[in-house]
Amino acid sequence: MLEQAQRILKDVFGYDAFRGNQAAIIERVAGGGDALVLMPTGGGKSLCYQVPALLREGLAVVVSPLIALMEDQVATLDELGVAAVALNSTLSPDEQREIAERIRQGRIKLLYLAPERLVQPRMLAFLQHLDIALFAIDEAHCVSQWGHDFRPEYLQLGQLAELFPKVPRIALTATADKRTREEIVQRLHLENAERFLSSFDRPNIFYRIVAKDQPRKQLLGFLAERRGDAGIVYCMSRKKVEELAAFLSEQGFPALPYHAGLSNELRAYHQKRFLNEEGLIMVATIAFGMGIDKPNVRFVAHLDLPKSLEAYYQETGRAGRDGLPADAWMAYGLQDVIFLKQMLSNSEGDERHKRVEQHKLDAMLALCEETRCRRQALLAYFDEEMAQPCGHCDNCVDGVQTWDATEPARQALSTIYRSGQRYGVGHLVDILLGRDNDKVRGLGHQHLSVFGVGKAHSEGEWRTLFRQLVARGLADVDLDGFGGLRLNPGCRPLLRGEVSLELRRDLKPQVPKPTASAA
Ligand code: ADP
Ligand code: ZN
Repeated sequence: MLEQAQRILKDVFGYDAFRGNQAAIIERVAGGGDALVLMPTGGGKSLCYQVPALLREGLAVVVSPLIALMEDQVATLDELGVAAVALNSTLSPDEQREIAERIRQGRIKLLYLAPERLVQPRMLAFLQHLDIALFAIDEAHCVSQWGHDFRPEYLQLGQLAELFPKVPRIALTATADKRTREEIVQRLHLENAERFLSSFDRPNIFYRIVAKDQPRKQLLGFLAERRGDAGIVYCMSRKKVEELAAFLSEQGFPALPYHAGLSNELRAYHQKRFLNEEGLIMVATIAFGMGIDKPNVRFVAHLDLPKSLEAYYQETGRAGRDGLPADAWMAYGLQDVIFLKQMLSNSEGDERHKRVEQHKLDAMLALCEETRCRRQALLAYFDEEMAQPCGHCDNCVDGVQTWDATEPARQALSTIYRSGQRYGVGHLVDILLGRDNDKVRGLGHQHLSVFGVGKAHSEGEWRTLFRQLVARGLADVDLDGFGGLRLNPGCRPLLRGEVSLELRRDLKPQVPKPTASAA
């Protein structure tokens, strides 16, 4: 069978060899067994069901939540001469009937469907009268409520096990920690699935996270050594995307904006240019990236913090798919933390959902303040252990300076408390540094016992410290929009002197080193 699979790989897809677990997965599924595939984005998941689809008799049904992705795949398969169709709501009833007819005649090998479509009783009945080669469930983590893109329709896919007991099922995902993995198995009834876990390590990516200070300037510093390289710069808001794209272009870095507020035509046009031209920078919101397959993206820069490590991993993972050295660079500051916490608190979700999101944000913040190897920390989050520090991230290369921040942290917390738990970092720092300005005077804060006790440290150091207190959950940000700080009950042991606090120092100067050549 493997020989046949090899031939299909070569003749249909034009590739010479399988990658990683592909061959083993294909053998398993083509042989009629179930499989759970955990493979990073760009790892080559599609072939894991496309090849078995061609090896087996009957129709392969592929479930995917993203219409755009389905259409991409169908178009690609079309070009390769494989009969594939996507059934979606944009088709007219006539077109749908025509497709159903072709399926009945056995002229289609792969059928792509959204989950809600597949589980319609009519569709299930239709499929039960056919010879089904396999079910592929893409983005299987959508079945997990713990996951960040839970889709209720996915829960109903569990019934496939019962309705089609003889048909092999393969579930695939690029994001699944242990907990999500177990949820996939349980909810999709994949108890008998063989598990294929690939490493999530992207050894050619150099990770760097810097403290945000003057983001544009810092970004230019980073880009200066990467002139002519294609890359993606992620920002949170549409406005920022527009402004930054214009700014970069002015600075001689050809850049295009991409966000959901642009017309479909313009987005498609910018995407096409990014894919086809050399050395363009895409400045984008997270709307950009799903299904983008450009191998030579040399860097992914974040000017705003993603809301989870899953998102960070996915987004940075778009760099260096060709295996050549690439950079993941991020500038992060207190405003990011405030912003994301505000978003979270204003979000619609129920309490459980918010707790999950909060936990995910905390993990993201922990990576930013990480004092050990970034890659080890990142992989550990995905339940993958890496024995040694990687030697290929900022922390490994530059080393991390830590300092005993116990006393200053107590002073900072005390300043929050004594000034009434409602002021933002700027004012708190003024108090600590003993700045006798109008606001301080107006509030009588020059009389506080903490006034001027912090002169041993610079403004920048205090700002870093406040950021770290928030990132570690020792202080909370008021979520009414003014960014005032409050104590979190978690700070009590520190205030009582029961624990000490070791924090990383922000590196000054923040001029990034050339890294792409260091690999
Ligand atoms: P995923 O779905 O895991 O993100 P894809 O299936 O889209 O990844 O594959 C990513 C890219 O790698 C595609 O361009 C695909 O054609 C290519 N690819 C996959 N497997 C192989 C292989 N064995 N040899 C060469 N290229 C491959
Ligand atoms: Zn490292």
